[in-house]
Amino acid sequence: MRTVVVTDDIWSAPRDRIGQRRGIAGDLAVFKAAGAAAEAGYDLEGVERVARLANRRTRSFGVAFSGCTLPGADAPLFEVPGGRMAVGLGIHGEPGIDEVDIPTADELALLFVSKLLEEVPDGIAIDGARVVPLLNGLGSVKYEELFVVYRRIHRLLEERGVTVVEPEVGELCTSFDMAGCSLTLLWLDDELEELWRAPADTPAYRKGSAAAHLSIGSTDAAGVGDPADGTDDVPASTSDSRDAAATIAAALDAVSVAIDGAADELGRIDRIAGDGDHGIGMQRGARAARDAARTAVEAGAGARTTLEWAADAWSDRAGGTSGAIWGEFLRTLGADVGDDHAVTPEIVARAVASAKDAVMVFGKAKVGDKTMVDAIVPFADELVARVDDGLRLADAWRRAATAAEDAAQATATLAATLGRARSHGDRSIGTPDPGAVSFALVCATVYDVLDTDREQ
Ligand code: ADP
Ligand code: MG
Repeated sequence: MRTVVVTDDIWSAPRDRIGQRRGIAGDLAVFKAAGAAAEAGYDLEGVERVARLANRRTRSFGVAFSGCTLPGADAPLFEVPGGRMAVGLGIHGEPGIDEVDIPTADELALLFVSKLLEEVPDGIAIDGARVVPLLNGLGSVKYEELFVVYRRIHRLLEERGVTVVEPEVGELCTSFDMAGCSLTLLWLDDELEELWRAPADTPAYRKGSAAAHLSIGSTDAAGVGDPADGTDDVPASTSDSRDAAATIAAALDAVSVAIDGAADELGRIDRIAGDGDHGIGMQRGARAARDAARTAVEAGAGARTTLEWAADAWSDRAGGTSGAIWGEFLRTLGADVGDDHAVTPEIVARAVASAKDAVMVFGKAKVGDKTMVDAIVPFADELVARVDDGLRLADAWRRAATAAEDAAQATATLAATLGRARSHGDRSIGTPDPGAVSFALVCATVYDVLDTDREQ
């Protein structure tokens, strides 16, 4: 862990005690540089370095027209007399350090710019410098008013030979209902300019257009929404598809119980060559999928929708590689079983075969790499073959589950070549692959549900 303290507020301590200054809206400049660096793949040292660099090149100065009122309090933390303006505000409700008469918008712009240009970081010439101005509203100053002040700030900077780069005007760092604003200048070098210009997508701050990363371990944002929020529309379904959905929900319920019982052992075998989280991840995923499937069934969803909600919940909550793969598996199963027809053994077999293919495309594992694919492939092959033979679904499934279990145990002789365990591949020899073992356990558990389900 590293700690970088933001010290942008020029009013809070003199220049010879710059390290004692407090952080105000310059936080954004420093956090943005650090975040963009991390996103660009800098290591921890590099992220810390640019955070310190951005802090050294960031200066701010704020004013307030009224203090903020904390939730539950009946008076503001401080008051500014009518017609007066507090100078040198803090963002945690600290009063201003000085007080002056309220200026016009243009006079305020001049005050901001002239003070900050007296405080240019060492080694930077104003004329020709490239600067990001951040004009920040504290909570109850209107955007229109900020834009009026900013208009003059921009001109004043350009008059001094400064090139303005991608400015921000808005509520970036607020203090409840405080009326006030601050100007921050981030003095760029080439590296900081690139980091500032990089797109960002966070709950409180967005810049440019940031594409989501699609990689293993990430969740698929393109699927249905969060099942837990109850806002999804439930697509129409037929009653035979809703019957299948009820069986799916019962199966996920049983899977969650079985995984709870096996979690410690799954964690133990993942610890040998992996990171020991497979039991926890499977537990979180299976529980979330169970809850999502229940919600779907109660909302009248068919089999496909139930599986999609379960898939999203599993990959969202499980974390880890196996969570993403289980999400892909369940989502693909759903596509074949549909919402508008009965689920026959042939449809189940075809759905499992497509889910197997999808997982192999998604994770790029082949049989023999020592992953859950080693269990999924024999499971799917056996299920398709036995359904072809005309077996009833539960009987075909039992044979397939046995094939999965045998294959999972047989992975013990292999060395892992993919996934997290690959860096300790040889150490995994003698222990079966955790993802294959849990897959086989899920198959066996679902068999029990199918076997007792009179509908099948
Ligand atoms: P993580 O590896 O992220 O900690 P888990 O511990 O939950 O995730 O899951 C590990 C399991 O994921 C492995 O035992 C293996 O079965 C499976 N796995 C890893 N990589 C792949 C892959 N590329 N394709 C299929 N399964 C994989
Ligand atoms: Mg793991």
